[in-house]
Amino acid sequence: MLSQRGMSRHLLLALVLAIPVTIAAALFALDRTFGLPGSGYDYVLHIDLPQADGEIGLPEIQGPPDASRPLVVLDPGHGGHDPGAGTGAISEKGVTLRIARAIRARLLDAGGVRVALTRDEDRYLMLAERSNIARRLKADLFVSIHADSAESKDASGASVYVLSDKGSSQTAARIAKRENQSDVVNGVQLSSETDVVSTILLDLSQSEAQAGSVELAQLILRELRGKTRLHTDRVQSAAFAVLKSPDVPSVLFETGYISNRGDAAFLASEEGREAIAQAASQAIRVFFARQAGA
Ligand SMILES: [Zn+2]
Repeated sequence: MLSQRGMSRHLLLALVLAIPVTIAAALFALDRTFGLPGSGYDYVLHIDLPQADGEIGLPEIQGPPDASRPLVVLDPGHGGHDPGAGTGAISEKGVTLRIARAIRARLLDAGGVRVALTRDEDRYLMLAERSNIARRLKADLFVSIHADSAESKDASGASVYVLSDKGSSQTAARIAKRENQSDVVNGVQLSSETDVVSTILLDLSQSEAQAGSVELAQLILRELRGKTRLHTDRVQSAAFAVLKSPDVPSVLFETGYISNRGDAAFLASEEGREAIAQAASQAIRVFFARQAGA
């Protein structure tokens, strides 16, 4: 049951989340009208911006037609004009979509859990749209799926991240910065979520969701051990824009390094994909089972 306080908190959250999108749209409209000062652009960048609230279509929820069943939103990173990491035959946007579909298939096979994908095709979504889909669907979990790249070809293995203001390491901060670039197109930052807004979001109710985020991240790492290479077997944290969902436990799963030859082959193979999907789906099921028993 929603208390009065809970309701006003939700209203406040809705307002706060609408602000960045509105500002982005306004800035974009201004730029379209007047151009950036001194830029002298002779072309027009045309990008479909998300609508302020609830205008982009929500994805289909699959699984039991019973709203009391837990719902996980899987978010295949990147898509459309944004390929993510990787060069040549393997791109991050393709790897993440195939892994998300494999996780979904396992969850639906086992039953009892509802699943939605933020994208089930090769299309672009802004980072805020992805977490907003989870919020609008009233999801119980949000898992953003990615694959990493590094200058060092030796870097390899999976890692799992939760949100924090500061990176747990320089590497974590670098990876968050790179993933957040998904909202930058031709040098134009599409999102405008300011630090102030981020801080409000964190203050509001991150802590409740944060405990769930850390628990799921630990479960994924536990299930991955012995099945895939781990880059680090501790939960990592960094300021990932896609994880800034105030009330849904959210993790970002870097499934491996596309820049590493062994990882790339593993991620592209059915065997690798299934090993990752098995671990992630098992972790999600254990998470929900614990919640049901709590
Ligand atoms: Zn990514």
